[in-house]
Amino acid sequence: MNKTIEEIFDFKATTDACVKCGKCIPVCTIHQINPDEVTSPRGFIELLGAYKGGHLELDKNAKNIFESCFLCTNCVDVCPNTLPTDMIIEEVRADIAQKYGIAPFKRAFFWLLRHRWAMDWFSKLGYVFKSCALANDEKDRGLIAKYNLPMIKKGRLLPSMVSTSFLNKYQEHIIPPQKPKQRVAIFIGCLANYNYRGIGDSLVYILERLGIEIFIPKKQLCCGAPAYFTGDMSSVEYMTKKNIAYFESFIDEYDALIIPEATCSAMIKEDWERFFANHAMPEWEMRAKKLMPKIFMATDWLYKHTSLQELLALEGQTFDEAVTYHDPCHARKVQGVFKEPRALIAQNYPMVEMSDPNRCCGFGGVTMQTEKFEWATLAGKPKAAMIEQTKAHYVSAECSACRVQLSQAMNEAGVETIFKNPIELIAKALGREE
Ligand code: SF4
Ligand code: SF4
Repeated sequence: MNKTIEEIFDFKATTDACVKCGKCIPVCTIHQINPDEVTSPRGFIELLGAYKGGHLELDKNAKNIFESCFLCTNCVDVCPNTLPTDMIIEEVRADIAQKYGIAPFKRAFFWLLRHRWAMDWFSKLGYVFKSCALANDEKDRGLIAKYNLPMIKKGRLLPSMVSTSFLNKYQEHIIPPQKPKQRVAIFIGCLANYNYRGIGDSLVYILERLGIEIFIPKKQLCCGAPAYFTGDMSSVEYMTKKNIAYFESFIDEYDALIIPEATCSAMIKEDWERFFANHAMPEWEMRAKKLMPKIFMATDWLYKHTSLQELLALEGQTFDEAVTYHDPCHARKVQGVFKEPRALIAQNYPMVEMSDPNRCCGFGGVTMQTEKFEWATLAGKPKAAMIEQTKAHYVSAECSACRVQLSQAMNEAGVETIFKNPIELIAKALGREE
């Protein structure tokens, strides 16, 4: 029988290891917009220790507090003891899900993510009915109360869906005319698959220009990140195990599995192993670990393992339109990827740094984007302002969650900067027509 999380992970040791130095507090995304000790990493750790020690009930107030963390990992980055505040909050959300259940709209969403065929149909419907996506405020309030639906406010930008997903658009194997020196597989991520297909189209275009053989594994499922951040551990277990068994069937034949999405990549590279370790599944932990050396964020692999930079220098078109780069939390802080996308973009576009590219955009996950959207809105405002200050034509980040959040924040603030994934900018420089 699997051990419980308490038997595996010593919450008391984590609480005791917090030296209360407060270094994490100024960088904490929720504390920046709700300056209260209870919504700070130090406060979360203290409350978690009390809860696990049996001194705090997991009531609605505690639930609300634990759901206010953006999981941005800023605190882990600066903590002298590298305390995994984000991870222990992810785990306590599983207790919250058990006690209070998961809202029906979230359960329906995770069910769709578990069943690719159903999500494909949902995407087609979403494409047909996209003009109905924005309803009026009064109607929304009624729907929210009646069906516990996510908040859809007037003026809210929801990414529209494509009629044919990236995975359905292409054949499984794309073989270059000349014998390829390298072979890669693509993990696309749900937002790039169903909403921002230009990312995958651009990645295929770049790989073809480099003469690299491409494999598009059709049976890939969601990486599990939306469910993990919400505490739906059974969905995480289902999706991760399916994906691992599938990846094992082809990974030895390819140089890399590349991902143009920071959150999916961080989930696969960091959280899969951590999830199995925390839930005492050592065999799966080992199987996840074995895959890791071949998994890369797309810009990281393209920069380090291909001649893309030379190709951009020799054949790329140069543009006057400036680009400012936002560092997704799951790219820079979790995977150390920040120089690589900048170096590739800078080959063909002038770059201008915003005042704090490392500040979290405020996406925060499914709960933050629906039930706690006011906080996501507040967290997005300073980011929109610093993007506007740069006067850049484009803002770029290798993360579609950041794209959803920053597009919304810029729209609310009237900022006209256009969001592009670095892969899209690179493909444009190589001549891809949008
Ligand atoms: S993960 Fe981010 S929002 Fe959550 S406690 Fe740490 S710094 Fe604060
Ligand atoms: S930085 Fe680390 S040790 Fe210091 S208060 Fe924050 S969580 Fe505790």
